Amino acid sequence: MSKVLMISPDKCISCRTCEIICSFTKDNEINPKNSAVSVLTYEEALISVPIMCMHCEDAACEKVCPVGAIKRVDNAVVVDHEKCIGCKMCISACPLGNITFNSKQKKIVKCDLCGGDPQCAKFCPSGAIEYKEATPNNLNRKKIIAEKFKELFEEVEK
Ligand code: SF4
Ligand code: SF4
Repeated sequence: MSKVLMISPDKCISCRTCEIICSFTKDNEINPKNSAVSVLTYEEALISVPIMCMHCEDAACEKVCPVGAIKRVDNAVVVDHEKCIGCKMCISACPLGNITFNSKQKKIVKCDLCGGDPQCAKFCPSGAIEYKEATPNNLNRKKIIAEKFKELFEEVEK
């Protein structure tokens, strides 16, 4: 069975280890700005939520890419940086705001599940990010959390 990244906002302690390890893994530097996971602090609700790509079944980023640079590979929606022309349409298309652009390296920043061993999940000290079997129960929970992310993102955008 394949696996999915699961988020438990109630467990997030806002330490930002996920942001640090992601940027270090991908770019060999500690720069949360270029991390594919962002910890969003939602002060009114007194919670912090690690926000990252949900590897949607029907991925808007994949659909909108004019050069077919975004494809599903196993259970991950990944960017082929060789094909990418940097038009940033995927950034606008993602309803969860989960794609950014590294202006120094001129490349799209998006979670690729680290080839099946997501480092954010591995190093999260509180279990707020886990990489779990894609059971119907987990998939359903993931869907509910994605909807909540969407609502949160819309609130932050206002
Ligand atoms: S980047 Fe956004 S639209 Fe694309 S798979 Fe991830 S969450 Fe879905
Ligand atoms: S920025 Fe790259 S990956 Fe994103 S839509 Fe444009 S070509 Fe596709």
